[in-house]
Amino acid sequence: MKDIILNLEDVRQRIAAAARESGRRPEDISLVAVSKTFGPEAIHSAIEAGQRIFGENRVQEAQGKWPALKEQCLDLELHLIGPLQSNKAREAVALFDVIQTVDREKIARTLAAEMEKQRRRLRLYVQVNTGLEAQKAGIDPREAASFVARCREVHGLEIEGLMCIPPLDENPGPHFALLAKIAREANVEKLSMGMSGDFETAIAFGATGVRVGSAIFGNRPAAGQ
Ligand SMILES: *Cc1c(COP(=O)(O)O)cnc(C)c1O
Repeated sequence: MKDIILNLEDVRQRIAAAARESGRRPEDISLVAVSKTFGPEAIHSAIEAGQRIFGENRVQEAQGKWPALKEQCLDLELHLIGPLQSNKAREAVALFDVIQTVDREKIARTLAAEMEKQRRRLRLYVQVNTGLEAQKAGIDPREAASFVARCREVHGLEIEGLMCIPPLDENPGPHFALLAKIAREANVEKLSMGMSGDFETAIAFGATGVRVGSAIFGNRPAAGQ
């Protein structure tokens, strides 16, 4: 588990260097440590190394790990970065602090109702399918700005930022640029973009939050991707 501490240090330094290279302040970029498929022991190492923001892509997996961890460490911030089904909205609102994957009317409506019911205000991001990939979640980039407006005006949701996952086999730069452009149009402040393989590029394009898993925790089994 010593590796995790060293890896985290390395990732933080790379974030800071990429920020400075773009004339940005390192503290303006937050690191979401993506702990999917990894157990409490690995997560504990990251917490010991000062990491407080974590990301999970499955509600059910997160429910098995995080209630206990959150009890032990009160200032953790947990982000849902995977697709959310309406029938998991109750659990998601109860457990997560940020949901990065709002991408359709039904989930916006369900989250609004659930947050009201639980008296919890989560921070929300709209996921944009910048590559228009059939198998990928996220709203069509051409509809993203109007969807953000509807989330705000119709559902009373505060949308803090946008999130994207560029196609695996493409240069990510244009996708990051597109997300930044939509954020300006939609009047949204935060940009969640960049993973282990491309977070430095994402920072050059304005990322305010990067989601890094394998560069911190190591490689995942293929099924966990
Ligand atoms: C798994 C995952 C990541 C982290 O990916 P790495 O390549 O391991 O850094 C980031 N974002 C999302 C949405 C993910 O599902």
